[in-house]
Amino acid sequence: MLRDPEVVTTAEPRVVSQAEQTVGVSAGTAAVIGLQHLCQRDKPTTAYLMIGERCGCDCAFCTQSRSSTARSHFLSRIVWPPYPLPHVLHAVANSFAQGDIVRCCFQVTVFPGYLQHTLSVIEQLHALSPIPICTSIVASSLDAIQALLESGVERVTLALDAVCERVYRETKGGDWQSRLKLLRLAAERFPGRIGTHLIAGLGETEQEMCTTLQEMVDRGIMVGLFSFTPVPGTAWASHSPPSLSSYRRIQVARYLLATGTCRIEDWNFSPMGQIVSYGLHPSRIRELLADGQAFETAGCPGCNRPYYNERPGKTIYNYPRPLSAEEIETAISFALAELSDEQPVISPVPISNDHETRRIKA
Ligand code: SF4
Ligand code: SF4
Repeated sequence: MLRDPEVVTTAEPRVVSQAEQTVGVSAGTAAVIGLQHLCQRDKPTTAYLMIGERCGCDCAFCTQSRSSTARSHFLSRIVWPPYPLPHVLHAVANSFAQGDIVRCCFQVTVFPGYLQHTLSVIEQLHALSPIPICTSIVASSLDAIQALLESGVERVTLALDAVCERVYRETKGGDWQSRLKLLRLAAERFPGRIGTHLIAGLGETEQEMCTTLQEMVDRGIMVGLFSFTPVPGTAWASHSPPSLSSYRRIQVARYLLATGTCRIEDWNFSPMGQIVSYGLHPSRIRELLADGQAFETAGCPGCNRPYYNERPGKTIYNYPRPLSAEEIETAISFALAELSDEQPVISPVPISNDHETRRIKA
């Protein structure tokens, strides 16, 4: 997928552009770190910053893609107004010191010199604060990933987005296998420090999603799970998001796999690739899902991404906070609605909140 491969070092000093003197700050983040006023019910617990604007890549679902006509300060559903870089980095460091945020995430687009610029920004923030930093970036090599980790990044996220070759080709237009290969190598070389993003609803089957989820869990790769969200100005503006029941099944799948409760081999799928059984009795699944964590935003520790996939007051795909009892009941009902009634009862591995915390949040 990489259109503009970066090298880790450059012989020539780079001219810093106007855009590089600023950084995009998600509207919710800007409010939390004191850059603007905004009433928000669910505040971000991570500072989300965007490095770069229009991207050299052309992902069909992305507002920043080369051919997108969406306003340039949008990414996903979120508006990211630019602010002066030093001001933002100090605000992030202060907010972390005060306990308002627990992490800083840099979402990086592809532009000339993007790796060097990202390394410089990370070094600046790392020098100011011990805040855990992650970056979602199109890294082209293990050397680039190592440079990011050495500059102060705690976790590097290499977004696959699409869970299989076919969907990757249709939505991102590149070579899924080579991205997957780099992800596998990175997970081996830098255990516990590599993540990926997967988007449900790009045309994959639930079985294809579960197969990739299982591989990511097996390789210790943290998964940030998203639901596809159509945004005006993108090539896929008129496509539909996944049905809520399908997304709930995928959230349950991710949770059961990440907690080691069961494996994909235990599950059954319909001929169309829809999950029809997790190999557990429905009453046992209800027990396992009773705290609602399966339906909360999944990703790096402290990443809650409010309103990335949903509008305020509308259906919530990823809950950015613990669910109410009523929300848990509704979410479970959607998840279980289309499962077969004939599941075999197997002995599940018991889990506790502590276990979940260690496996997913830590
Ligand atoms: S998803 Fe990432 S790589 Fe693709 S166009 Fe958007 S910013 Fe670029
Ligand atoms: S999971 Fe969240 S914090 Fe981690 S890279 Fe993705 S968006 Fe950033």
